[in-house]
Amino acid sequence: MPREILCLGIESTAHTFGVSLATGKGEILSDERSVYKPPPGRGIHPRESAQHHSQVSSAVLMEALRKAEVSLKDVDAVAFSQGPGLGPCLRTGATVARALAKYLKVPLIPVHHAIGHIELAALKTGAEDPLVVLVSGGHTSIVAFSAGKWRVFGETEDITLGNLLDGFAREAKLPSPGGPNVERLAREGRHLIPLPLTVKGNDVSYSGLLTQAVKKLGEGCRLEDLCFSLQEVAFSALAEASERALAFLEKRELLLTGGVAANRRLQEMLRIVAEEHEACFLVVPKEYSGDCGAQIAWTGILARQAGVSVPVERSFVKPRWRLDTVPIPWRKP
Ligand code: ATP
Repeated sequence: MPREILCLGIESTAHTFGVSLATGKGEILSDERSVYKPPPGRGIHPRESAQHHSQVSSAVLMEALRKAEVSLKDVDAVAFSQGPGLGPCLRTGATVARALAKYLKVPLIPVHHAIGHIELAALKTGAEDPLVVLVSGGHTSIVAFSAGKWRVFGETEDITLGNLLDGFAREAKLPSPGGPNVERLAREGRHLIPLPLTVKGNDVSYSGLLTQAVKKLGEGCRLEDLCFSLQEVAFSALAEASERALAFLEKRELLLTGGVAANRRLQEMLRIVAEEHEACFLVVPKEYSGDCGAQIAWTGILARQAGVSVPVERSFVKPRWRLDTVPIPWRKP
């Protein structure tokens, strides 16, 4: 019997350099990562993060192979996040992937990072045809699969939910990443401070909310109350837009994924939305919610099995690659 295909996946879109090994049976044999952390009060500096990635790349790669108990010669395909993301970070991961694919003489598989979040979440939860709420530092999108592509039914009109939480946390001098710290303080919140909730059709808008929350911080509002209010307002807007999409599409599954999916209050709100519409609420396990090599390795398996690959000399990175432009040959139309 032929053995299962083994794919090595490399993630490097922003703060995380990750390497994972996945098999055609859906086993994640290892998932190693190293995360660049900017100094408090600062956002990610693309070149500094890329430098971090190149410094840690071989150690992360060796550890992923060791934990998976495989050697490089067992690898049948090398997948990498081709975009979207920060140019210097993407190029660092792509360079490692190209070198490995050339050396091993195996196919190079380009993966859209957001589709990686969706496919890994589907693998881990068993979701088949969900309405997906993808929330991270790079995305705030409500998507569903139709006619060969993931279609966007709602998204942010300006900054993402992750940007909102991280941006506010920076102003409040909380350590990076901001989201978990905002969540921790929000649990101590007692008063709902009025902040603007903006839903436009199926889209949300968060930049006015950030401006107002920062203004209230400057006016001396209690930080815990502000974190609580920021979460309540931002998540309510997303829940409203998601509910509209769910009611319209009549999907039976609501799948939450991306870094912000780890937030318990957001999970609670979307669970209520799903239950109101008799849909099953599914959430990506916490260890796979943030950026990781596993999302790339597993999507690499699916893409490889559908015949997707790219010649090394045409494997340019795509920092601004939209999710709804990517053909998905491995899902039924
Ligand atoms: P993308 O995956 O779209 O490229 P990204 O690179 O920011 O975006 P992720 O690791 O998926 O990657 O998400 C990181 C975001 O998740 C950050 O904004 C972080 O603050 C947020 N986050 C992580 N944990 C939590 C939490 N418990 N509550 C809220 N936000 C969280």
